[in-house]
Amino acid sequence: MQALHLEGGCFCRAIRYRLAGAPHASMVCHCRTCRGLFAAPVVAWLSVPRDAFVFTQGTPATFCTTPPVTRWFCGRCGTHVAYVHADEPGWVEVATCSLDDPCATPPTHHSWLEHDIGWVKFGDGLKAFPRSRHDGD
Ligand SMILES: [Zn+2]
Ligand SMILES: [Zn+2]
Repeated sequence: MQALHLEGGCFCRAIRYRLAGAPHASMVCHCRTCRGLFAAPVVAWLSVPRDAFVFTQGTPATFCTTPPVTRWFCGRCGTHVAYVHADEPGWVEVATCSLDDPCATPPTHHSWLEHDIGWVKFGDGLKAFPRSRHDGD
């Protein structure tokens, strides 16, 4: 994940952002919250230092969920592009597939298989964790 200055945004392009640095983690989440927010079976995320993430166009709408997470999405087309967890303000989680080139930052593992709905089979050989990969550290 050495690519720098990755750019992305929402589907209608009203919201645009830039990543000034390489993501520290890239994963596919199978949790209920991601599934519900995106109405999709799984959602891929990148972890990026907060100071490496900047909106370059538009002002995102926000939506807060519990645990205390502020979610940024496009108020026009609805794409959820990123979120910040109140307990980890130094990081932004960016929706991988909101990048212009999501192929640049492929996932390294799957998380929250405990919530998996079971009808998507990946067979990509990546590690899969019942919850977060940090559980059991
Ligand atoms: Zn939009
Ligand atoms: Zn999730």
